[in-house]
Amino acid sequence: LSHSLQAKMSRPVQARRLEGIDKNIWVEFAKLAATYSKVNLGQGFPDFPVPDFLTEAFSRALSGGNHMLHQYTRAFGHPPLVKVLAQFFEKLLGRDLDPMTNVMVTVGAYQALFCCFQALVDEGDEVIIIEPFFDCYEPMVKMAGGTPVFVPLRPNPPKDGKLMSSADWQLDAAELASKFSERTKAIVLNSPNNPLGKVFSRGELGLIAELCVKHDVLCISDEVYEWLVYDGKQHIRMASLEGMWERTVTIGSAGKTFSATGWKVGWVVGPDRLLKHLRTVHQNSVYLCATIAQEAVAQGFQRELMLYGKPESYFVQLPKELQQKRDWLVQSLDGVGMKPIIPEGTYFLVADISQFKSDVPDVPNSDEPYDYRFTKWMVKNKGLAAIPLSTFYSEAHKNNYSNFIRFCFAKEEATLKAASDILQKWKQEKNS
Ligand code: PMP
Repeated sequence: LSHSLQAKMSRPVQARRLEGIDKNIWVEFAKLAATYSKVNLGQGFPDFPVPDFLTEAFSRALSGGNHMLHQYTRAFGHPPLVKVLAQFFEKLLGRDLDPMTNVMVTVGAYQALFCCFQALVDEGDEVIIIEPFFDCYEPMVKMAGGTPVFVPLRPNPPKDGKLMSSADWQLDAAELASKFSERTKAIVLNSPNNPLGKVFSRGELGLIAELCVKHDVLCISDEVYEWLVYDGKQHIRMASLEGMWERTVTIGSAGKTFSATGWKVGWVVGPDRLLKHLRTVHQNSVYLCATIAQEAVAQGFQRELMLYGKPESYFVQLPKELQQKRDWLVQSLDGVGMKPIIPEGTYFLVADISQFKSDVPDVPNSDEPYDYRFTKWMVKNKGLAAIPLSTFYSEAHKNNYSNFIRFCFAKEEATLKAASDILQKWKQEKNS
């Protein structure tokens, strides 16, 4: 290369908005799991099949004679899908919805989140994030020029020696209120919460809603696990609370709802005054989502609308099955002394690994939290993949919450049994 060509390449290529957000835990841990794991309870996806009615709907869309399903559809959502989503959410929210302006389809809930932050957050705006949180909220806020402000759920261990529940992790009302100011543009709520499985109560939601109304703050409500709620608990939608519809964007995911995470169909439901700006981001980024997947999801929702609340409904059956899987994993973790926090919802479970410190070699001067070292050691030495909980915390709070790891239990019985066998064998080795 000539001198002049080399000189031209010395200028930074990376946009400033990417500074400090280049690491991604899922890329790192997916690679570790692929290399070492015999049993992968790490990343959140089911290893059991998609329901038959959904694959059949996809096959019909693929080869049913309507060749236009292979072409572009409406940018903001395939008409049959936005129509049925509007019908469904009218039921859930108890208000009339316009499919064209109150619903938008996205490439998974992930792109829905991206649209929210890009459309609603300006340079200098603050966005409140409740810890622990689905990790992408932080870089997405930063990429939009905003400042994340964190407020933790604080664990209150039960005194009677019982196992902790995700309900024992609560917001401190005064601490939460102290985070709101005139700089606050939005709060991100994720109920049921990944990673804890916490299902926010009406009281907790009411507290957040009151602060949003008082400070004129928007709520980005990530409800992708809306159907995965256990023990007869009820998922309450933020947008259904008084004064919240006009300031809330509700996010959902067919990936979680129909156990088809690879389809990447998500949606937002909300007032036109917010959604019209999300549409601007959408039309200037991905423009539209795969037509055929939207058609199949639309048919899935039509089925669910017909069976709403009935025992045959997938939204009734799936949580029933997952609750059994949860109970099974709770038992096997408890049996080996990896104390589980019983989740009220989602397909995740957080377990306490403080009793396993002696198993994992100490790395002097390492600034890596214990749960990171533990998870890496476990996948390499035991073949079991999980995710360190501190991943779901801001840099400043990581070290306060590094005694836990997260498992995903949306798995076949055989997978959960294989995990339990690994844990049992490990316990026997410890005891001998
Ligand atoms: N929000 C939460 C809380 C999640 O856990 C996930 C997926 N792990 C998403 C959003 C993204 O969902 P999708 O796969 O539909 O993009």
